[in-house]
Amino acid sequence: MSKILIVEDNKVNQKVMERLIKISGNECCIIEDGGEVINYLENNHVDLVLMDVQLVEYSGIDITKKIKNHFKLNLIPVIIVTASASKGDRDRIVTESGCDEYIAKPFFPTELFEKMSKFIPIDKKLFTKTV
Ligand code: MN
Repeated sequence: MSKILIVEDNKVNQKVMERLIKISGNECCIIEDGGEVINYLENNHVDLVLMDVQLVEYSGIDITKKIKNHFKLNLIPVIIVTASASKGDRDRIVTESGCDEYIAKPFFPTELFEKMSKFIPIDKKLFTKTV
């Protein structure tokens, strides 16, 4: 079982993400305040971060940058989850943040599971069609 940190300020999205993580058979923790992320990661084991971009006070891009420049945390995979969906946005966010993956909202659960599977063990049945 992997531990996933969800950084998300929207309550509805929090519920959806939490539910999907449960379906994937993993456990999660939710942080709303971007300012707490680094401290949390320094003190807790996390296998994967799902990072919203527009948080109340912080930008998920800046927090991801901090993770990727942190000597102890930089190997933790970060998937940015954002409503900024154009190709230009995507390229800018990936380059600027140094994130490992990117997913645009709204997404199909299969898409999320497939991207998560690049970094943690996920049952393939959750994102491939069975014959
Ligand atoms: Mn948000």
